[in-house]
Amino acid sequence: MIEKISVRTHGREEIIDITENIEKIISNSKISSGYCIIFVPHTTAAIAINENADPAVKRDVLKILDTIIPQNGDYEHFEGNSPAHVKTILTGNSQMILIENGKLKLGTWQGIYLCEYDGPRSRSVLIKIVSS
Ligand code: ZN
Repeated sequence: MIEKISVRTHGREEIIDITENIEKIISNSKISSGYCIIFVPHTTAAIAINENADPAVKRDVLKILDTIIPQNGDYEHFEGNSPAHVKTILTGNSQMILIENGKLKLGTWQGIYLCEYDGPRSRSVLIKIVSS
C-alpha cells in the first residue's frame, strides 16, 4: 500500500521539514525492519534529506540554488518556471530511508525536506514502506 500526505506550501520557494509526518506513518505501519521510499510526484517540487537543527541551512540552500539557477535567466519554457524544473532535477524526486526497530535510521541532524520551487501549491508526498 502507498501512503500519502498532503502539504500546503506558502511561498514561491520554501523548504518544509516533513520528518514528523513520515515518522508517524512509519509508526502506524507497525513495521519493525525494512525501508521506505518517499516520492514526490511533481516536476517543481523535490525531496531531500539534510540538517534540521539550524533553520539557516534551509535558507542558504535556497539562496545558493538561486545563485546557480537564477530566476531571470534566458529560458524558453512557456510556463516561465524553468528554474523550478532545474532545481527539482538537481534535488531529486525521491529518497530511500532504512527502518530499524520501527524507526527511521536518520542521522542525529538529518531531517526530511519537501522542497517547493514553484509555490504556493498543494503538494503530495507518497510513501511506500517495505518490510524486510
Ligand atoms: Zn513548467
